[in-house]
Amino acid sequence: MKTITAKFGGSSLASAAQFRKVGAILAADPARRFVVASAPGKRDSGDTKVTDLLYRCYDLAAAGDDFEPVLDQIRERFAAIARELKVDFDADAELIPIREHLRTAPQRDYMASRGEYLNSRLLAAWLDWPFVDAASCVRFAPDGSFDGDTTQKLLSEALSGLERAVVPGFYGADETGRVITFSRGGSDVSGSLVARAAAADLYENWTDVSGVLFTDPRIVKEPKPIAYITYRELRELSYMGASVLHEDAVFPVRKANIPINIRNTNRPEDPGTMIVPVLPSGISPAPVTGVAGRKGFDAILVEKSMMNAEVGFGAKLLDIFADLGVPFEHCPTGIDTMSVVVSDSLFAPHKEAILREVEVRLKPDAVKLEEDLALIAIVGCGMVANKGIAARILGAVTAAGVNIRMIDQGSSELNIILGIDAMDYETAVRGIYAEFYGK
Ligand code: ASP
Repeated sequence: MKTITAKFGGSSLASAAQFRKVGAILAADPARRFVVASAPGKRDSGDTKVTDLLYRCYDLAAAGDDFEPVLDQIRERFAAIARELKVDFDADAELIPIREHLRTAPQRDYMASRGEYLNSRLLAAWLDWPFVDAASCVRFAPDGSFDGDTTQKLLSEALSGLERAVVPGFYGADETGRVITFSRGGSDVSGSLVARAAAADLYENWTDVSGVLFTDPRIVKEPKPIAYITYRELRELSYMGASVLHEDAVFPVRKANIPINIRNTNRPEDPGTMIVPVLPSGISPAPVTGVAGRKGFDAILVEKSMMNAEVGFGAKLLDIFADLGVPFEHCPTGIDTMSVVVSDSLFAPHKEAILREVEVRLKPDAVKLEEDLALIAIVGCGMVANKGIAARILGAVTAAGVNIRMIDQGSSELNIILGIDAMDYETAVRGIYAEFYGK
């Protein structure tokens, strides 16, 4: 039988109405056997996530201040869902051990984890499915680092005899039972771990958007969702700022070759985005899969005639950055010029030292500093097979009136990176979107 692991994010489980949508999604496909749940998220833009309330409670308790009013807000979030769904779930009783914990020796991770714990218990009670506590099968080492091998073993054992189960996301525990969380948004990681342990055919990640969007919706109004994207393309887009999944969520399923399907709980009829190792046969790649970018870069341009003949020039230049612990993003070269693109926040503290060292070690003809740049990554595995994509991209950016200061095409031909003035960033992104998808 086909097995799907379905992870529901905080907005998908924020209220009784959202729980009902989740119930309908699960009922629609019996292959959805394992559910990973987040803590209740925001019900509207003015709301507060339960996880944030829990952190607040911890901070108050740790400072010796009164946490009761915040704890009561948390209780009411769960009580309201239980009341409306008519589930036998006593929120008051559930909070007794948590209050006790806060009064004695509060631990930050333990407190944060209670949102996922209680929401999963509530969901399991409502669905009448077994509950599997992540503390017993998602394992961290004593130093707090995640232990993937032990987790795979414990989690697959825990799930093997079960037809269905609800597992809380975001946390696990070390050998002694001390609860440890992943970083924020970590239920995505838990979902991926459960999918792998259950040897699922598919990892569905249910959220509040209909998939990975072609670009940032704050820049382009309602950008198209991407139908198919490879893990590698997703990595490129995420690195350049596209917020899709938690960074560590891809690794476990990628290792097991399990595709991820990003879906919208509020629009379950939308197919969402399939994140796959390679495109399935019959699906031809789009000319451009997606566009992402970030501001806050500087470029140091070094010019020296006959540089191309000077063995080790590039290494010497990059050594200066390495010696000061400043990582570089890109390094486009010309015949007699070489630029190093760095993140401004990492470069700024070493700016004077780096410029001085460049003069001393390389004796260049000229050094120019270009500050306040944005980088745009245009990503797509289809670029290699399609002629003229680069020309269309450059044409679109130029037609939008943006001056391109740097172009770098990775040798994998998976992306083209453009460096432009930060103030032109939004205009350039809109120009590229219009070129491939119209206005
Ligand atoms: N509830 C946690 C957070 O808000 C984890 C998650 O939802 O993925 O970060």
